[in-house]
Amino acid sequence: MISRYSIKMNLLTLFFHLNIFTKISLFIKMSRPKIKIVTLGCSKNTVDSEKLIKQLELNGSKVVYDETDDLPCEVVIINTCGFINDAKEESIDTILEFVKKKEEGKIKKIYVIGCLSQRYRSELRDEIPEVDSFFGVNETNKLLRELNLKYDKSALSQRTLTGPGHYAYLKISEGCDRKCSFCAIPGIRGRYQSQPLDYLLKEATALAEMGVKELILVAQDLCYYGYDMGKRNMLPKLVDKLLELNMFEWIRLHYLYPTTDFPWEIIEIIRNNPSLCRYIDIPIQHISDNVLSSMKRSHNRKETEEILCRIRHDIPEAAIRTTLITGFPGETDNDFRELYDFIKEFRFDRLGAFTYSHEEGTTAHKKLNDDVPQKLKEERMSSLMELQQTIALELNESKINKVYNTIIDRKEGEYYVGRTEFDSPEVDQEVLIETDHNLKIGKFYGIKITRSFGFDLFGVPI
Ligand code: SF4
Repeated sequence: MISRYSIKMNLLTLFFHLNIFTKISLFIKMSRPKIKIVTLGCSKNTVDSEKLIKQLELNGSKVVYDETDDLPCEVVIINTCGFINDAKEESIDTILEFVKKKEEGKIKKIYVIGCLSQRYRSELRDEIPEVDSFFGVNETNKLLRELNLKYDKSALSQRTLTGPGHYAYLKISEGCDRKCSFCAIPGIRGRYQSQPLDYLLKEATALAEMGVKELILVAQDLCYYGYDMGKRNMLPKLVDKLLELNMFEWIRLHYLYPTTDFPWEIIEIIRNNPSLCRYIDIPIQHISDNVLSSMKRSHNRKETEEILCRIRHDIPEAAIRTTLITGFPGETDNDFRELYDFIKEFRFDRLGAFTYSHEEGTTAHKKLNDDVPQKLKEERMSSLMELQQTIALELNESKINKVYNTIIDRKEGEYYVGRTEFDSPEVDQEVLIETDHNLKIGKFYGIKITRSFGFDLFGVPI
């Protein structure tokens, strides 16, 4: 999978025992290396990096993680993504960029962690020997040991936030037990493993105390929470407990798998609690029974439609988001037409489409031919996104002159950029706010929508 490249510190001698003498402790802290963390991939990786940064800081290390921060650093840790081809390429390009810096003498050590490293550790070792060590997912303790640093188990629920600080992700589980034939995740991150409820409540409380206003629950599949521990219907229980904390303005859920034993109680909780965003992220991947069946999804077209229609019936104002794959092996023109027509008819509020990536180790890779030409995969993806743009524009126009509670994420040029509860950070549309007033980042304001353009809205504070 990884092509050959033309490119090609001694161990950090730091003391651990901070309980010796103050002077020695001070010297130790000053002599810690500066470490740069580069995080690629999804929000789950962000959480892993934030926990790692906390551990490094507890050891007295100076850590930088902002892309723009070019502080000279002795050590670079790259947290990679290895889910699909594009992500793998981005990870490898990033590693090579730092290899070049190492060759130029600008950094001393490179460590690679995360999904790519978990998946292709031995190939990467052979191909990029300039990297000092590779670690997989959940190997923070080994990495710290390599750096001669201490792993503080009592601080496992602590994080240093790398985002704007008013929203944060809460990773409620690791891995996945489902058998989707296109998906490499179970092979990389292993079987589903729920985080204990008490632990999550502790982590959520710590996040709220750090100023987080919007808590975003993430997992490969939120619906499966608790099943690995032999407990059913644990997601509603977890959400109830988080609501009881009464510490967040918004709680958002990413992703609800369209399973036939869908946790309907969650929809009820969303309906009755304004703090739970009316935002349902439900990746259906396709709608044709032929494709769903060879994808080994556990839902057919009829079941998918029933779930979607019931959600829309129960909370008509909710934004429903989905993701789709185009060009799955065996996807015919008819299958694609069926998908296109369904999207046109159902009118998802938010939609992301991706071309199929034939991933080693997956059932699809073992059993099916990657028989849809790349060009056709891309054409199908583009036509879905064009369709969605038309739908989004129409849906957005219906929002004009309405007022929405909006969180301010940042200021960009002359605009404040915010989001309503119907949009998640980094993946959905935004509200561009025109005002002479000073708005505070991370605060909520009533914003009246004045116009829309493409996937974005424009508004003014009321
Ligand atoms: S539900 Fe399917 S697509 Fe999602 S992570 Fe699990 S196996 Fe992959």
